[in-house]
Amino acid sequence: MASPGELRLIERLTSTEAFEPEIADDGAVSYNDADQCLDATDSEPVTVLERFTARGVLADEFITKVYVCPDCTTEGLQYTTACPACKDPHAVQTTLVEHSCGHTGQESEFETDDGYRCPECEQDLKSVDIEKRHQYVCKACSERFQTPDDRLRCRECTNHLPPLEATERVLYRYSLTDSGREWLDRQKRARQIARETLEERRFTTEVDTTVTDGGTSQPVHLLARDELMGEQRVVSIHETPAIDDVDRFCAFANESLDALPVVITTSGAVETDVATRAEETELTVLAFNGDGTLEAEYETVENARAHESGLFQRLSAVLEIPSR
Ligand SMILES: [Zn+2]
Ligand SMILES: [Zn+2]
Ligand SMILES: [Zn+2]
Repeated sequence: MASPGELRLIERLTSTEAFEPEIADDGAVSYNDADQCLDATDSEPVTVLERFTARGVLADEFITKVYVCPDCTTEGLQYTTACPACKDPHAVQTTLVEHSCGHTGQESEFETDDGYRCPECEQDLKSVDIEKRHQYVCKACSERFQTPDDRLRCRECTNHLPPLEATERVLYRYSLTDSGREWLDRQKRARQIARETLEERRFTTEVDTTVTDGGTSQPVHLLARDELMGEQRVVSIHETPAIDDVDRFCAFANESLDALPVVITTSGAVETDVATRAEETELTVLAFNGDGTLEAEYETVENARAHESGLFQRLSAVLEIPSR
């Protein structure tokens, strides 16, 4: 199913190329353009985008990963080495010189104005006689070591943490797929046909509107009023209506709105329990036909989600056949 806000989000991608990620102040990945399309009753943008990507309506393109301080959520940790003994980052790489007499010292101890001299045996040395080694010296605890620890440093809270303890955020760019475009067209056409059908019956309609009753505010795909008869219809459009969504919708229509609920299936099928509900209550179920009409006949399936993804795979497969 797609809520009015979700439909708006998908539609935005027909005029915007893609939703680009940003890192919010709290360190979370945010998609502000997508967020603006959604209603308070919708899930978080990331959740919605992932769900439509899993269905194939959207495609996600990996951009990069960023690492965030787990303590203060600052983005952009900097690499530093650290002393393995005391963890202090003030560990610096030094060059040691080793003479064949056995003496080892800092390179600076060997340096004279005209070359190298061993401070121990006072022999003048050619560079071939000495061996250089690199090693780290910790200025905090004077530990010497070959391999420093890897650490990430937070610019804000001076936290030094092992790289694997940083919070990893994966950034994706989301765009509309060809089959997603087809899917969107179908949902919008179903809404439009429902609107025209109701208007022919003297209803005044509002598309993608929010209905507020008492404290409850609910976005709806289509609201229709017959001022003369004092009647209202509220229309919800789903690819394959599932019983949970339909029950919630009917409760809202009846209790908060005193409107008759209409559910339109754009796949031509509903969950079996939805069909039962339509027989027993005032719920109307209509099927949107590819040729642009609404019909009272529809099929039933056990599981709406499975049915939707099966349909979508077939749609994608058709679209992938190259046209001549
Ligand atoms: Zn020497
Ligand atoms: Zn140290
Ligand atoms: Zn921090």
